[in-house]
Amino acid sequence: MKNEDLFKYQKDAMRLLTSGFEKDKLVHAYLLDGNPGCGSLDAAIYMAKKLLCEKQNAPCMNCGDCKKIDSHTHLNVLFIHPDGDVIKKEQIENLIKDFSLTSFNGKPQIYIITQADKMNASAQNALLKFLEEPNPNHYAFLITSNYKRLLDTIVSRCQFIHFKPIPKQYLMSKLIDYGVEKDIAYIVSHLTSEVDVAMKYIEEGKITNFMLVAKKIVDKDLKQKDVYVEYYRNKVIFIEEKDKFYHRLFLDILILIYQEILLKMTTSKNEYFDDILENVKFKDIKINDIIRKLDLLNTYQERFNYYVNLDLQYTSLFSKL
Ligand SMILES: [Zn+2]
Repeated sequence: MKNEDLFKYQKDAMRLLTSGFEKDKLVHAYLLDGNPGCGSLDAAIYMAKKLLCEKQNAPCMNCGDCKKIDSHTHLNVLFIHPDGDVIKKEQIENLIKDFSLTSFNGKPQIYIITQADKMNASAQNALLKFLEEPNPNHYAFLITSNYKRLLDTIVSRCQFIHFKPIPKQYLMSKLIDYGVEKDIAYIVSHLTSEVDVAMKYIEEGKITNFMLVAKKIVDKDLKQKDVYVEYYRNKVIFIEEKDKFYHRLFLDILILIYQEILLKMTTSKNEYFDDILENVKFKDIKINDIIRKLDLLNTYQERFNYYVNLDLQYTSLFSKL
C-alpha cells in the first residue's frame, strides 16, 4: 500500500505511530492488529524507514536505506515470517543472536514479525524474554490479524494499534488500475482484501470462466429460457473442479448478479454487470421472484459446505431457479 493510501485509510493508526516518533517517545514494541490487506505491514516498513532514513523529511523513499528496506536487504531490519504455518523458537533465537552480536554503528535495529500469532508457545516465551529486556536501539513490530492468540504478557508489553478493514472500494480501484475488468474486480473484492491475493485469483483465470457462465445462466433465466441447457453446455468446468471453494464462488457470483438486479429494480441504479442488466425487461420480472432465487442460492451455498454430488446439486438447483 502506498504511503498516501496508508495515511488516508489508516489515519488514526498512522497518527499514533508517527506522533510517538515526532515527540521522540517512540515505543519499542508495537502490536499492529488488523485484517490481511489492512496495510499494517506497510506501516511497519514505513516506520522502519522513518527510523533509518537520514534524509530530511524521512522517509525519503529513495535513499539507499529506504530502498534496501523495501527489498528486505537492509542489515538493520529483520523480517520474520512463518516457516510453513508456524514461527518456531529457533527463528526468535536467531533474531536475538543477530541483534546482540552486532552494533550496527548505533543505528536503530528493527524486527518485523509477520503473522506473529503463528509463533508457537516456545517462540512466544523466547520473544517475551527479549521484550522484557528492551534495548533502546531495538524496535519491534508484531503484525497480526489475531492478537488473541498471543500471550497476554506479550500484548501488554506492546503498544496495541488497531488497523481498520480497508473498504472494498480501495481494492477494486487498485485492481481496475491494473487493468482488471470492473465486474471481476467487484467479485474478487468479496473474496479477499489483499491486492496480491486478488491478482493471484484473477491470473488463475477460473473466476473469469465462472463469471462468464454465471452471466449466461442469469441471462437465460431472465429471458425465461431453460438454464439447465446452459449448465449442461459448460458441465465439464463444474464437474472437473474438485475444489469446493470454486463451487461456492460460482454461487456467490450468481448471488451478486441477482442482488444487482434487485438493486436496479428498487433504486433504478446499478453499478455492475451492465452487459446483462441492460437487456433485462424489468416489467416482466417480479421482485419476489428475485428474492426467492436469492434464498434458493443461499440454501444451495450452504450445501456445498458438505460433501455433495456436484452434478446432482447443480441439476437440482437449476430445475428450481
Ligand atoms: Zn530515505
